[in-house]
Amino acid sequence: MTDPDLPARRLLLVHAHPDDESINNGATMARYAAEGVHVTLVTCTLGEEGEVIPPELAHLAADKEDRLGPHRVGELAAAMAELGVSDHRFLGGPGRFRDSGMMGLPQNRRPGAFWSTDVDEAAPYLVEVIRTVRPQVLVTYDPNGGYGHPDHIQAHRVAMRAAELAAEPAFRRDLGAPHTIAKIYWNRVPRSVAEEGFARLRATAAESGTAVAFPGIAEVGDIPGVVDDAQITAGIDGTAYAGRKAAAMRAHATQIAVDGPFFALSNDLGQPLFTSEYYQLVRGESGAPAGERESDLFEGVAS
Ligand SMILES: [Zn+2]
Repeated sequence: MTDPDLPARRLLLVHAHPDDESINNGATMARYAAEGVHVTLVTCTLGEEGEVIPPELAHLAADKEDRLGPHRVGELAAAMAELGVSDHRFLGGPGRFRDSGMMGLPQNRRPGAFWSTDVDEAAPYLVEVIRTVRPQVLVTYDPNGGYGHPDHIQAHRVAMRAAELAAEPAFRRDLGAPHTIAKIYWNRVPRSVAEEGFARLRATAAESGTAVAFPGIAEVGDIPGVVDDAQITAGIDGTAYAGRKAAAMRAHATQIAVDGPFFALSNDLGQPLFTSEYYQLVRGESGAPAGERESDLFEGVAS
């Protein structure tokens, strides 16, 4: 039974840190929210270990006052207001799992770090969300988390495990009635789109005589989730939502500097801001004719 108050179409996104959702899926989230889809974001950590870009906020960092987490809760709320998404939650509640830092750091093994948490300990929190919201579509990362960050890998594992457990009739009936998610997608970027974006960035930098507003330019290999075009099964044209996506990214001011159609993370390397977003369907049936990409993640879903 689905809550009769919920809209007919429901989308769940699982991310590691505040800001990942806007970078990867900002246009997709804005589009579906505008279309009346119930969009639920679950963020697994507060991103406490992130580096801070604005010098005036540097005091918040983990190696200083360690107050970045609560600050990023506010940034995420502002970003969701830009995208029109009201249902955003933290896995197990805010601060239940801590940012593990980059792979290999001692923070990976700290008690409470998301990476050091057993998948089966974290997954039930997401099972409860799945059985409550009952999404037809789930979006998360690939098994490498897009680029190997421990929290992104763990978010993938927890999302995939929770999708399995939520459908399991015998699992934890106290968390709600079983629910099978019809379609699961991983975030992807087609190699041709990444290459075209960097070519545009380099051309702009060459014309203006500077690397736009950023000291350097990233490489295609720095972009999470880049794969051969043939692996892409769905593309969301986010042209109409480009402004909202950029505004949501700007709301994550401690993490992202936006300059027109480009942005940089704390490494100060410019990269293209993709307004169209791409996916690989890994569970469920494509609603598109064989060999064609879906242009809607709900294609073929009975509501
Ligand atoms: Zn992240």
